[in-house]
Amino acid sequence: MSFTETKKLDEKYIAGTYKRFETEIFEGQGATLYSEDGKKYIDFGSGIAVNSFGVNDQIWKDAVIAQLNKVQHASNLYYTRPQAELAKLLCERTGAKKVFFSNSGAEANECAIKAARKYSFDKYGEGRYEIVTLKNSFHGRTMATLTATGQDAMHKYFMPFLDGFFYAEPTYEGVRKVCSKKTCAVMLELVQGEGGVRPLEIEQVKEIELFCKKNDILLIIDEVQTGNGRTGKLYAFEYYGIQPDIVSTAKGLAGGLPLGATMLFEKCEKVLGAGDHGSTFGGNPVACAGAISILKRLDKELLLEVQGKSAYMFTHLGRIKNVIKVTGLGLMLGLEITKNAREVAEECLRRGLIVLTAKDKIRLLPPLTIKKDEIDTGLKILNEVISE
Ligand SMILES: *Cc1c(COP(=O)(O)O)cnc(C)c1O
Repeated sequence: MSFTETKKLDEKYIAGTYKRFETEIFEGQGATLYSEDGKKYIDFGSGIAVNSFGVNDQIWKDAVIAQLNKVQHASNLYYTRPQAELAKLLCERTGAKKVFFSNSGAEANECAIKAARKYSFDKYGEGRYEIVTLKNSFHGRTMATLTATGQDAMHKYFMPFLDGFFYAEPTYEGVRKVCSKKTCAVMLELVQGEGGVRPLEIEQVKEIELFCKKNDILLIIDEVQTGNGRTGKLYAFEYYGIQPDIVSTAKGLAGGLPLGATMLFEKCEKVLGAGDHGSTFGGNPVACAGAISILKRLDKELLLEVQGKSAYMFTHLGRIKNVIKVTGLGLMLGLEITKNAREVAEECLRRGLIVLTAKDKIRLLPPLTIKKDEIDTGLKILNEVISE
């Protein structure tokens, strides 16, 4: 089927929720992708930070196929080894005590929200249910996570939204002002991704942490995008030197398969009991096998490589004409430019480079294993398109 035919079918039969770019992703190797007609693309997007090790990674494929050859799904009525092994790995590497598995970022956050409210209910009884999130945040598209998302533009059509969510400026003062006696949790992204690749300030986050600890308000860190090596640490909270109570993650966790994880630290260890939450697909053994393969290879050496590539990209991006500012952490980069970001992204695509946008910025999320020559080719195209 040609691209034109695929596009026609897509437009006829798929709900029009996505403004797609003009290409079909067909196959590839690492950070190099091809469309159906053989056109080559350097990938600075990883399918929105999902394909951690690019596409067609042999070790990852072997792990996934080995599990496919055993059993593809069992449901959570039974024990499966990949899920148990992955939970152990996540706890050992983060200090979390328990993990709940789901299939996406929104679901991982949904579980975080439920766990926070239950923690407070168990300890203080009814009424202490408020959750404070940040302005300009993004937490997902379900009703609860959409409510948690601190962007007015997204709070349309679907009324009524959930009760008990409040939005703060991304500072300690901002958060303190919005918290009340009824607040059970503060939820934040350490680098706001969809909101424009905006890292929070370390000192502000540390003060928010201290304030939360003092008032027994749970600190939930949404690492759906920043997690799993993306920022050059396994999880961005390590970079910030804080101790969260709940961490949610998804995107890059399973290297391209749908998997969400909500990590519960000490305070929340016993909050979720039998029947309190659940998911039919959550923690699917194939996805978990993929995630184990990714996590095992996300060692010190690879994380240092991510930091090195990040520094290299920061330097070169900062020199491009018409780039006002480079923001971000690790291989999660934002470019403030004097041009229209969507138009730049479309022109990059025409010239063989996949980039993303976030608000009015260009957003770069290359595979963590991207090669030096792929980075250079991508930077060259970006330079041409932005500086022209
Ligand atoms: C992408 C994202 C989500 C939502 O994840 P889905 O898998 O699309 O549900 C939530 N939070 C953050 C920070 C994200 O980047």
